[in-house]
Amino acid sequence: MYCKNCGKEISDGSVVCINCGAKADSEIPFNILSIVGFALSFFLAVPGLICSIIGYLQIKKSVYRGKSLAVAGIVISSVSIVITLIVIIYAISLAATIATTYPSYPSYYY
Ligand SMILES: [Zn+2]
Repeated sequence: MYCKNCGKEISDGSVVCINCGAKADSEIPFNILSIVGFALSFFLAVPGLICSIIGYLQIKKSVYRGKSLAVAGIVISSVSIVITLIVIIYAISLAATIATTYPSYPSYYY
C-alpha cells in the first residue's frame, strides 16, 4: 500500500509510515471493546459502560480506531444508568408513599 500523506510505498500492515511518520489510517484496527460497549450501552448499561471504559483506555494506550464510539458508549450507558436510578428511586418513594398512605395493617382489611 501507499502512504496517504507522502505517497511512498509502505509495507502492508504497518501502522505508521516509515518515511514521514503519518498514521496509515486504513491499517489501524477498530477497538472491539468500544464497538461492543457502544452496542451494549443501549440495552445493558452497566456491561456497556465497563466495555466502553476498557475500550477507551485501550485506545488511549495504543493505536486503535473507535475512540468516539467508546466515548459515545460511556455517555449513553451513563445516561441510562442515571435514568434507571431515577426510576428506581421514584418507584421506591412511590411505594413508600403508598405504604404510608394505605398502611397494610391486618385491621385495614376488616
Ligand atoms: Zn508517508
